[in-house]
Amino acid sequence: MTMTNEAWFDRAKIVIPGGVDSPVRSFRSVGGTPYTVVSGSGAYVTDVEGTTYVDYVQSYGASLLGHAHPDVVAAIQSRAALGTTFGAPTQGEVELAEAMVARVTGLEQVRLVSSGTEAVMSAVRLARGATKRSKILKFDGCYHGHSDALLVAGGSGVAQMGLPDSAGVTAGAVGDTLVAPYNVVPTLDESIAAVLVEPVAANMNLVAPAPGFLAGLRAECDRVGALLIFDEVITGFRLARGGAEEYFGITPDIWCFGKVIGGGLPVGAFGGSRELLSNLAPLGPVYQAGTLSGNPLATAAGVTVMNAMDTASYVVLTTAAQKFARDLEAVIRENGLYAVIPTQGPLLGLFLAPSEVSAPSNFDEAKVLCDNGLYRKFFHEMLSRGIAMAPGSYEIMFVSMAHGSREFDRTLQAAAESARATA
Ligand SMILES: *Cc1c(COP(=O)(O)O)cnc(C)c1O
Repeated sequence: MTMTNEAWFDRAKIVIPGGVDSPVRSFRSVGGTPYTVVSGSGAYVTDVEGTTYVDYVQSYGASLLGHAHPDVVAAIQSRAALGTTFGAPTQGEVELAEAMVARVTGLEQVRLVSSGTEAVMSAVRLARGATKRSKILKFDGCYHGHSDALLVAGGSGVAQMGLPDSAGVTAGAVGDTLVAPYNVVPTLDESIAAVLVEPVAANMNLVAPAPGFLAGLRAECDRVGALLIFDEVITGFRLARGGAEEYFGITPDIWCFGKVIGGGLPVGAFGGSRELLSNLAPLGPVYQAGTLSGNPLATAAGVTVMNAMDTASYVVLTTAAQKFARDLEAVIRENGLYAVIPTQGPLLGLFLAPSEVSAPSNFDEAKVLCDNGLYRKFFHEMLSRGIAMAPGSYEIMFVSMAHGSREFDRTLQAAAESARATA
């Protein structure tokens, strides 16, 4: 007898807090019981009850080719047979670093870590160590992982005052973190070590950078000698082959990567010029380390994904995602709901509203649309029709290379019915 999603989640809740290892998976914000995944293939995931969904979660962007791509599976299998971790330099980490450096202009060196959180946390330490300054500035509604100093999250007055946004984060830990509204270039002073930004904000649903915003940050950082950090954990090697720098033509001082570069296994990376990275141990005074950093299985998967994506692949992905976004927006509108689907390259957000709205340009505007309760209903209508979106209205939709017209058509059909049921 097979156990139901309900039964698995009940079992999970006994031994795992809230039944999940990352809070958004819990369905808290949409209600109901999460499906427990058994397997994935391309654009699809299948749960313990045998239900198959078209998957727009795609591990929140960690999957670019789709699930269980044969080349990635083969790379992991052949690597696994040779041993999975050694505590010594390996060829795979060199190959992944070379693949990254080859694609991003100005990126000369990277240090590999095991998650996006670690990448950004280490990048901030590097920036502080290199500039010998303490303060960093982040933007309201941007997510940079769960390290203490960066858990000053969006929007609330508490966040604006630099107070901790999570229990257990001390005021001291966030005392040097300033928060500013997205899409307004802040005036900096010489106490600022670094400005940290998602070049496309993709954790408050999708908020595109206004024209001039990223260029303005670059100029303002240069004016006071602060470093500009692009958190490209989502945009890196997804927005374009060279990431946000290629897409927007703005060069940061430090890049942070994650998600895509692990090919579905845990990897993060941060990097910049050789000179800047020479501040890191063992060359310099900024300490940073990791037992599983540059793990052979993960680098094998990551290199395989990177090599599978040429310039044409990004055009294919972007074209497909953009067409899907326009079709989805239209079909929802034709069926009694208002949808705004902002896009940047292959990234797409989904804001639902009871009446005509324009795309949000900052967290305060995004929150109004994300918190209006429509997503919760729409999400379940879609899920019941075999379409899996992220169980939270602040997430974006991830289209992989495995999504094609069959999946999009099925999604649009479900969206028409779901919009009617939601409106
Ligand atoms: C996911 C994400 C992170 C954190 O990465 P993890 O691998 O979950 O630790 C950091 N920054 C951005 C922009 C992200 O989307």
